[in-house]
Amino acid sequence: MTGYSAPLQDMQFVLHEVQDAEALFASMEGTAEVSRDLIDAVLESAAKIAQEVLAPINRSGDEEGCRLEQGKVFTPKGFKEAYTAFAEGGWIGLSGDPQYGGQGMPKVLAVLFEEMIMAANSSFALYPILSAGASLALARHGSEELKQRYLPKLYSGQWSGTMCLTEAHAGTDLGIIKTRAVPNVDGSYQISGTKIFITGGDHDLNANIIHLVLAKLPDAPEGPKGISLFVVPRHLDDEAGDPSKANNVSCGAIEHKMGIKGSATCVLNFDDAQGFLVGEPNKGLNYMFTMMNYERLSIGLQGLGLADSSYRSAAQYARERVQGRSAHGVQDEKSVADPILVHADVRRMLLTVRADTEAGRALAVYVASQLDVAHFHRDEQRRARAAKLVALLTPVAKAAFSDRGFEGCVMAQQVLGGHGYVREWGLEQNVRDARIAQIYEGTNGIQALDLAGRKLVRDRDGLLEVLIDEIETFIAEHGAQESLASSIAALKAALSSVVDVSAWLKEAAQTDADEIGAASVPYLRLMTLLLYAFMWARMERAAHEGLANNSANASFYDAKLKTAAFFRARMMPNAQALVGEIKGGCAVLMTMDADQF
Ligand SMILES: Cc1cc2nc3c(=O)[nH]c(=O)nc-3n(C[C@H](O)[C@H](O)[C@H](O)COP(=O)(O)OP(=O)(O)OC[C@H]3O[C@@H](n4cnc5c(N)ncnc54)[C@H](O)[C@@H]3O)c2cc1C
Repeated sequence: MTGYSAPLQDMQFVLHEVQDAEALFASMEGTAEVSRDLIDAVLESAAKIAQEVLAPINRSGDEEGCRLEQGKVFTPKGFKEAYTAFAEGGWIGLSGDPQYGGQGMPKVLAVLFEEMIMAANSSFALYPILSAGASLALARHGSEELKQRYLPKLYSGQWSGTMCLTEAHAGTDLGIIKTRAVPNVDGSYQISGTKIFITGGDHDLNANIIHLVLAKLPDAPEGPKGISLFVVPRHLDDEAGDPSKANNVSCGAIEHKMGIKGSATCVLNFDDAQGFLVGEPNKGLNYMFTMMNYERLSIGLQGLGLADSSYRSAAQYARERVQGRSAHGVQDEKSVADPILVHADVRRMLLTVRADTEAGRALAVYVASQLDVAHFHRDEQRRARAAKLVALLTPVAKAAFSDRGFEGCVMAQQVLGGHGYVREWGLEQNVRDARIAQIYEGTNGIQALDLAGRKLVRDRDGLLEVLIDEIETFIAEHGAQESLASSIAALKAALSSVVDVSAWLKEAAQTDADEIGAASVPYLRLMTLLLYAFMWARMERAAHEGLANNSANASFYDAKLKTAAFFRARMMPNAQALVGEIKGGCAVLMTMDADQF
């Protein structure tokens, strides 16, 4: 069985009962019109397109892959038609600037939409998500002329966008890129260089591709401070304004890879291609970071969405597959064996994936709501506070959703035994498709370094303090609620571990700078446990309220409380192991000589 069924009830629970999105939107400029009815209508339409248009071409896209013929990339059968339907539905400009034809929807809605499309068909989803990211960078940093020329067509899907950073010798370290930009007398630039691994670098889905390219000007300073951002269209406008003149950009090859085979990953050659500067010279990397805060969340959702869809297949399988008998004796006398769901270990696997994906979804909505506040709120202090939370939480969300998402896909595959390893149920494709999210958009190791280094040890803005304040406020508001006693106790314990280990790391880094890198991944994992404990406490509060007021959905809320109890008892204890790992220090890593590896 393959296919996708969107978790609409869970999404609505997080939006309305945990987050109270309608009240948040009503309090801000630009989102006041976004009512509960509108939210639900958008989610239902999104589920429909994910289930009925994207999911049916997921496996065929994986089997066929992309092909390069005479310099042109062709996407798998059905992608072009699906793209047209998707674009006509207005989905590409969902959170785009309404002044230029976008729909102006808040990020909170966009993250749930992205979870659905990533889960239904990650390869396809990358094309519009990259366009949305490129549009965002242009909307924030481009001149009025660039915005007028490109945004309406990017939002409508007539054209699409890419992000061209990586070169063969420069991936994580973009300061050493070699692509050059030479000014022309007319104010444009000649761009030359080769970019690799460019998602959607070439394809047959629409009329033009707008590349956002990082390059260096002739007099640029060395390193990351000498990088500028350029728009380089695949086709330039002719006198009539149609993109009919080929620019000097060509696709040299496409990669053959482990997963996301329907997504074209291209080597792009820029041979004196005409480009246009975005914003000011030498600020390109900063501009890219605007885009990355959005994109990193989207890429995390690839792991989360695929894990959720894997969970649903695995849970259905575990109810139907019969093997062995329950530890308490025969449960189903009419059958030769009991469903594997009777076995505690099968339940452990399913509940681990479920506890992770549900907390992850709540965290995605929480981070997105902070992005919305940072963007739309009237009050400057509220905007600044939200921006700090976004800065702290984005690397955690990207790495946690994609790491735990990949592990979740593998665990769900394990529930099916050998049937998970073969093609039939689609779980092996999910494992292959989820893996890349741990690597691109900044590897998860780099996300962890960002958190432990820039956002903790070298932070001067009090980022962690804002999160601590958010959690302490929740504890103060709900600490007296008896039904939340266990979850508040777990939250307090996790908070105190993070506070303790953060102080330890700041101190240790003063004597040895390698302590940051040595601690970074377990520190991010510990932070994830704290955030998931926070999200589960918020969900439990909402579930208790739901049980009291809405008996028709009692089983739904009861399942939330049982998943929360599992998370506390079986997953939270890992926090202590992580503290031990961090305090184990860097010396044991750094004393091995290079030739001993
Ligand atoms: C399918 C696919 C699609 C992609 N799409 C795009 C795209 O659209 N646009 C684009 O520009 N790029 C794209 N990329 C490139 C991707 O973002 C890079 O592969 C990624 O950023 C890592 O760079 P790298 O592969 O050069 O690895 P390297 O930078 O060589 O890193 C290798 C390892 O060393 C670690 N490492 C490196 N530096 C440090 C450090 N300072 N401290 C600690 N650890 C470090 C890394 O975490 C990693 O584990 C894509 C890649 C793939 C595979």
